Amino acid sequence: MSAANIFPPLEIPETIAAGPGPGNTDPRVLQAFVNTGLADHMHADVLRGMVECKHMLRDLWGTNNIYTYGVGGTGFSGLDVMLGAILPGDSVVAFINGTFSGIDGLTIRLKASTREELAANALDPQPASVTIIEVPHGQSVTGEIVEKALAEHKPKWAFMAHWETGSGRINDIRSFNDACEKHGALGLVDAVSSLGIEDFSIDDYPGIVGWASCPQKGVLCLPLTYAPVSFSDRYIAEVKANGCHSYVHNPILEARHWGVVDGQDVAAGGYHRTHSGYAVSAFHEALRITLAQGRTAKAREYAFHERALRDAVAAMGCEVTSNMTSLVVLNLPGVLAGREKELVQNCRAQGFGIWPTLSEPVQVRIGILNLVTREAITDIVARFGQAINDMGADVTVDQDAIRAQLDDYYQTALAAE
Ligand SMILES: *Cc1c(COP(=O)(O)O)cnc(C)c1O
Repeated sequence: MSAANIFPPLEIPETIAAGPGPGNTDPRVLQAFVNTGLADHMHADVLRGMVECKHMLRDLWGTNNIYTYGVGGTGFSGLDVMLGAILPGDSVVAFINGTFSGIDGLTIRLKASTREELAANALDPQPASVTIIEVPHGQSVTGEIVEKALAEHKPKWAFMAHWETGSGRINDIRSFNDACEKHGALGLVDAVSSLGIEDFSIDDYPGIVGWASCPQKGVLCLPLTYAPVSFSDRYIAEVKANGCHSYVHNPILEARHWGVVDGQDVAAGGYHRTHSGYAVSAFHEALRITLAQGRTAKAREYAFHERALRDAVAAMGCEVTSNMTSLVVLNLPGVLAGREKELVQNCRAQGFGIWPTLSEPVQVRIGILNLVTREAITDIVARFGQAINDMGADVTVDQDAIRAQLDDYYQTALAAE
């Protein structure tokens, strides 16, 4: 054995995380993580923390669903639990309008495939029971699209993303819910980007039986913690009747960690797998921060600052095509078309962490997760304007004029208070 594989200590620099996610974790959350003592996963305070998180999650989702808890991992971990109720041969209609719902569509195809269908194309199966409805990048899934597809296919399950982060588009969950109810489909929603940003209560959507989100976007708890999920009794009855091909991502078995057994709140406990007191503390603190501010106030704050950023980049000659309030997706001024990745790379090299879109056409994405202050938006706007000017193209951003417009926006808002 040589020692050649021992590397120097890993140092990761602080950047401005101005992308679609992860969001900038609050120092209070990081403090909660490091202030936690080592305790085993059966320690009374760890168990109590998990039960308290469960109750706070019900408030965050706006639900009385007993089966509301966190799944250890990233957003796709929670989605894997939710989509785990889909079994081989199940009929599904999935609406896809960007990178993330596209991956969800793949998960659905993997789960709904029969053994033969999986063997025929193991990594990208095309099961006959799944209908993928593709909506072009940059467009929302509308009520008409959903109604038409569910009326025609009458599937057992229907799937949609709430906020498609790949293209920055909000999809119509009200119409999705209504169509699910009308056509008897069980609705499943990827709420990875919307939970903790938009003010919505899932109990207002009874046709949607399963919801999944993530730790690192609106919940702002990147120290890899828990992906929030919530399932209605209707969904749980389905899993009880038909099962799920997983132990660790089983919607019913996973709930036991959080003190949910047989549809009842019970004291947590009983070993299933090892949860981390550090993660539980961090997650607990992140939920406390969001609930203390309140969903409504938080949603309003995002809308207000997104508007400032949107107007500023529009004044630079960019065309904004998104309608999410945590993310601005834009086309650069015409003379810079085709140079989006170059501009993004330049910004990233300077610690300004914006993103391109991952699906075509290539656009620029600027996110504001936990960057919702006048100072942060002003800094983002100045850096982005500079990045355009640094491209040396035949387009110049008048930074002073942009700054004056931004100041005016904030001054007017202050005066109105
Ligand atoms: C970010 C995102 C995901 C994936 O979340 P991870 O935490 O990266 O696993 C899935 N769906 C949507 C809509 C997202 O925005």
